Amino acid sequence: MSRVLVLNCGSSSVKYRLYDGDTVHDKGTVERVGEPGGGPADHETAVREILDRVDLAGLAGVGHRVVHGGRRFSEPVLVDDAVFAAIEELVPLAPLHNPANLAGIRVARAALPGVPQVAVFDTAFHHTLPEAAATYAIDRDTAERYGIRRYGFHGTSHAYVSRRTAELLGRPYDQVRTITLHLGNGASACAVDGGRSVATSMGMSPLEGLVMGTRSGDLDPAIVFHLRREAGMGVDEIDDLLNHRSGLLGLSGVNDMREVLARRAAGDRAATLAFDVYRRRITGYVGAYYALLGRVDAVTFTAGVGEHSADVRAAALAGLDRLGISVDPARNAGSGDRVISPDGAEVSVCVVGTDEEREIARETRAVVGATG
Ligand code: ADP
Repeated sequence: MSRVLVLNCGSSSVKYRLYDGDTVHDKGTVERVGEPGGGPADHETAVREILDRVDLAGLAGVGHRVVHGGRRFSEPVLVDDAVFAAIEELVPLAPLHNPANLAGIRVARAALPGVPQVAVFDTAFHHTLPEAAATYAIDRDTAERYGIRRYGFHGTSHAYVSRRTAELLGRPYDQVRTITLHLGNGASACAVDGGRSVATSMGMSPLEGLVMGTRSGDLDPAIVFHLRREAGMGVDEIDDLLNHRSGLLGLSGVNDMREVLARRAAGDRAATLAFDVYRRRITGYVGAYYALLGRVDAVTFTAGVGEHSADVRAAALAGLDRLGISVDPARNAGSGDRVISPDGAEVSVCVVGTDEEREIARETRAVVGATG
């Protein structure tokens, strides 16, 4: 009874992994969900297809990735009707994400009565953010009424990667200060002090912070008013522009960093600018989090770009020697979880492979074990 199914319902895909202990027994992705011509009509249909396909014998639980846990959820929970309703109440804060997550939970609960369903929240790790880090400088009553604060995301990844960094350094987790850089399609930075998230770049939603595949990251909020007034764009149109047509895609025409790097190498000016905007933003966050932490033991790169692009890692940390941060080219070019800074460097620079699904499986097992 140690099998755990992990469901990760994204905006247009559903990823699943079946774990037996720490071993992946079965995995797959259903893509083009809800897109015309091809994929399943909606997330419900996609999850039903997966449940039909997967061997569900001996399942101890299903772990669901849930993007927004609001203020309420600071750790993974067993889903009952009240928890389901609470995640539904958070839909206005995560209209692009929570509905898909809920669809997965709804179908799995109906199809697998008696199998515990566990929600694992992207926001949970950031519950330790100091109030001053979570508070936007706007009218307090308005913020309180509408739930406007920094929640932070990618928590499962930042938690795993910061813990793994302490292992690589051979030091106790509660004594290490790390800046983690999760650079995937979505991207975020986090300052972790002794296992506690104390600053993170995504905010009320996953739109804030670093430049991403299709999201702008930080911008002047007045740009939104300007687009509304001068371009006559509707709110949904602006939402779509900033979430789906900006970032690397908006700047260079492609959202995949591999393609941006290839075009930059061929002398493409738009791709070169996209790369520079992208890495400059990372450099700025590293500096800001260095200042907030006061002392930094490690800077760790993870996720698709962070794990695989030596160019991005080198460019993002270039010029930070005075902060004790530098990258050894030969180590940077290597592979696997490792330290890539020179021996004796004041700050260790690390690369760690993140695995959010595995971490969700572990957390699911912990909740099921504790309650079952
Ligand atoms: P997600 O955020 O969807 O989980 P990943 O963490 O897998 O995605 O990151 C996906 C991104 O990683 C891709 O869009 C691509 O830009 C980037 N990537 C993957 N491999 C490489 C590579 N070898 N060099 C540069 N970028 C890469």
